[in-house]
Formats: sequence, C-alpha cells, structure tokens
Amino acid sequence: MYAGKLAEVPFNFKQHGRACALIALVIFVCCLLGILTRPIAYFAYFWPANAVLIGLFLRFPQLRNLGGWIGAFIGYMSADLVTGNHFELTLALTVANFITVSVSLFFIQYLQIDYRSDNKGLNFLYLFLVCIFIGCFFSAIFAVTVVPHMPHTFMTADDSWSEFYIWWTGEVLNCISILPLMLTFPTGKKFTNIWKNRRQCETKFIDLLPLFSVIVSVACTHIFFGPGALLFPLAGLIWAALSYNLFYVSLINSTVCLVLYHSLTTYYISRTADNFLATSMSVRIGLCMLMIAPLLLCIVSRNRHALYKEVLYLANHDPLTHVANRRFFFTETENLLKQNQFKSLTIIMLDIDHFKKMNDQYGHYIGDVLLQSFAATVKSNLREQDLFARMGGEEFVVVLKNTNLVEAEMIAERICRAVALSKTQVAHAVLNMTVSLGVVHQVLPTQNSLQSILNQADRALYQAKTLGRNQVRIAS
Ligand code: GH3
Ligand code: MG
Ligand code: MG
Repeated sequence: MYAGKLAEVPFNFKQHGRACALIALVIFVCCLLGILTRPIAYFAYFWPANAVLIGLFLRFPQLRNLGGWIGAFIGYMSADLVTGNHFELTLALTVANFITVSVSLFFIQYLQIDYRSDNKGLNFLYLFLVCIFIGCFFSAIFAVTVVPHMPHTFMTADDSWSEFYIWWTGEVLNCISILPLMLTFPTGKKFTNIWKNRRQCETKFIDLLPLFSVIVSVACTHIFFGPGALLFPLAGLIWAALSYNLFYVSLINSTVCLVLYHSLTTYYISRTADNFLATSMSVRIGLCMLMIAPLLLCIVSRNRHALYKEVLYLANHDPLTHVANRRFFFTETENLLKQNQFKSLTIIMLDIDHFKKMNDQYGHYIGDVLLQSFAATVKSNLREQDLFARMGGEEFVVVLKNTNLVEAEMIAERICRAVALSKTQVAHAVLNMTVSLGVVHQVLPTQNSLQSILNQADRALYQAKTLGRNQVRIAS
C-alpha cells in the first residue's frame, strides 16, 4: 500500500532528507531514554521510541516517506550501537521495533481508523486495539523466535511464553502511555492561541482539585504499599477525565502509569522475588486497563458536552438566519424584566416591507436569501451585548439594555438606513428592501408584562407601516 503511494509521488529529496534527519534524531533520543532505563542486559523499563514513531507518522503524514523510515532505522540502530550492543542483536531488535510500527500503521490505514474523529464513538479504542493485538503482538512473536538465537542475546529460547509476555506487555504499556500524548499534543497554532488567550482563561483553585486528588492518591501508593495500590488513583483519574481536555488527561495518565509501575514493581520485588516476572506482567496489564478507562471516559464526556452545546444552539437559534429565535427571546427578556440589574430596556420591532411581493415575484428561495442578508445587515449595526431575534416570518426584534431613548432611536434609524441602502445580489438581479421599525422604551423596574411592552412596540410598528413604511416610530 505504501509502496504504491510512493511510486505515484515524484521523489522530493528535500522532503525525504528533512523527514530522515528529524525522525533519526527523535528516535535516537527516545532509544537512549529507553536504554538508560534498561537494567543490565535486560528489557527496557520504558521504551517510548515505537509509540513516538507511530504518533509522529499519524500526526504528520508528510514525514511518513522513505526518508522517514530510513531515519527511523538509523535512529534505532545508532542508539544501540553507540551504547555497546552487538550488530546482529541490534539489527534483530530494530526489525522487531519496525514490526510494531509498520504493522500497526498498515492496519490503522487499512481499517481507515481516523484518530482525529474521536467523536465518532470509540475510534481511539480501536486504534489501541490495532496496536496492541496486531502491531505489538507480531513484534513479540518475531522477537521470541529470532532474538534468542542472536549472539550476545538477553532472551532465552527455553521459556518462550514468558519472553513473549514480557515483550508484548512492555510494548503495550509503552503504547498506551505514550501514543495518546503524541496524538493529542497541541499543535503550534493551538499553543499560540492558548498563549494569546491566557488572560481570559485564568485557572481557578477549584479547577486544580482533580489534579491534586490524582497526585495525593499516587503519593499514597508509595506510602501504603500493596496490591490494592493499582486502584488508588482510579477516582482521581475519573475526576480528571471529566474535568480536563484529552491532552491533559493523557499527560496525567502517562505520569501516573510511570510512577505507579515503579511503586508496584518495588513492592513486588521485595515480596515475590520468585515469580516476579508473572506478577510484573500482571501489573502491566492492570495498568493498561487503568489507563484506557480515563481516556475513553474523557472522550465520551467531551462528546456529550459538545452535543449538549449543539442541541442548546439549535434550541435557541433560527436555522435560516442564525440569529436567536422566539423561544430564546422570550426566556431571555422575561429574565431581564425580573432581574433588577438594568435601569432600562428598549425593544425594537422590525418588519420587512412588502416582503410578500418579493416572495411572489422572485420565489421563496430568493426570499430566504433576502432574509439572511437582512439579518446580517441588522446584526452588523448592533453591539455585541444587544439581543437580536427572529420572531417569525419576516418579523424580527432587537432588545437594548441600559440605552436611553435618544440612543435607541439613533440605533433604530441607523438600522432603517442600512437596510434601505443594502443591496443583495441574487441570480441575475440586485435587490434591495426596506424595513419599518417600532420602538418602545421601558424604565426598569416595571409592573408591565413583556406582552404589553411588545404590544406597544407592535402599535408603533403599525404606525410606521401606515405612515408609508421605511421609517422608525416611537411608542408614545
Ligand atoms: P408589510 O409591508 O405590510 O409587512 O407587507 P408584507 O408583505 O411584508 O407582510 P405580510 O405579512 O403580508 O407577508 C409576509 C410574508 O413573508 C408572507 C410569507 O410568504 C413570507 N415569509 C414568512 N416566512 C418566510 C420565510 O421563512 N421565507 C420566505 N421566503 N418567506 C417567508
Ligand atoms: Mg409581517
Ligand atoms: Mg412585512
């Protein structure tokens, strides 16, 4: 599949060279990190290179070219060779690493799992399932069949099952702790946005509580040693998953995973030296399960939140003009009347003149375009804090808070002029329209009901219509 794609694209030396250098450097550093945590002649405690490479190739497809793969090969090989490993063993280990990455990527592409559309259900979970049960699985199979036969190897052919489980669970744990971080890491653009808006989104103490609860529960795993420690951070992680975005949850998850792995293995080394390998593997699988749960919960909760926002928007907005609808206008204005927050309220009723004629002459579709254009014109003549809603048909309403009658009249006149001057290009014609406006100014607090204020505005509007349209009338 990749070979086919490569054949179609003309070879770009610069792009391949850049990918090669970047990936070689990143993988070299990641491998060194892994080798530093590797007990003498044994598996690495932490091996981020494979998950980092999968994450890079998924997030930056422009790096996934021949140059990128050669860079990865150089990174893997050079890190082991400079730290004193033998060539044959290094080559076998590099092939095993390549299997994790290439097989996972092949199946992610083959099954068309788009990690970006994590709102479409459980895509994130499927991505892990592919890496765990296909990529990591085949790499472990390769490792136990080839690596034990290499010179100066650290794996034995006597107990293939144990070797397989150690390799596989290690790969899986690395994948689950690193890959989410790679996939959710904010891009440069997002970072700039966060930096620009840093003043608006100041962190309150209460926002930090989920993080504190995770820190305290993880600290407890080092104080109250025992097998139950695996579950200590569960509640904190769930709280964090419901409170933070996916990147922060991934970051907290990975840190918890590393610290917990350390505290649990320390416990088991001191208690169960005999079957340390079996218990260590069980700890790894337990940690994987613990890691996946908050990620899924965070995605589900984020989706629910996004869906709620969408439903709320649909419930409160007019689908044609995208301004507030009648329902929103009534709830919002009733609330304004009840609160003692404002000194006055001005309501402007707007009704497009002779709209029926336009509909009859140009058709309903053009009528819709005119309504959209009208809404846009009015909106551009209002302030951010003014409420503008469609009451129904070609009737709209504007609510101004703390605006005196002179200012309100000026705003209404401005809207009237802007609509009369605006031109809407439709098919082969340029159309223009006019609007009549009825204004009512109400000092607050008041005993008048919203309906009676609206009736006054309606009467003023009717006057504007009878006096010739395209004008503003103030309710007496
Ligand atoms: P007046 O100047 O007296 O207000 O005359 P008018 O023709 O604007 O008023 P009338 O109430 O007689 O007609 C309103 C028309 O608005 C009737 C209806 O076909 C049209 N209309 C209502 N809602 C929509 C809509 O969503 N889209 C379109 N295209 N037309 C609509
Ligand atoms: Mg009307
Ligand atoms: Mg009308």
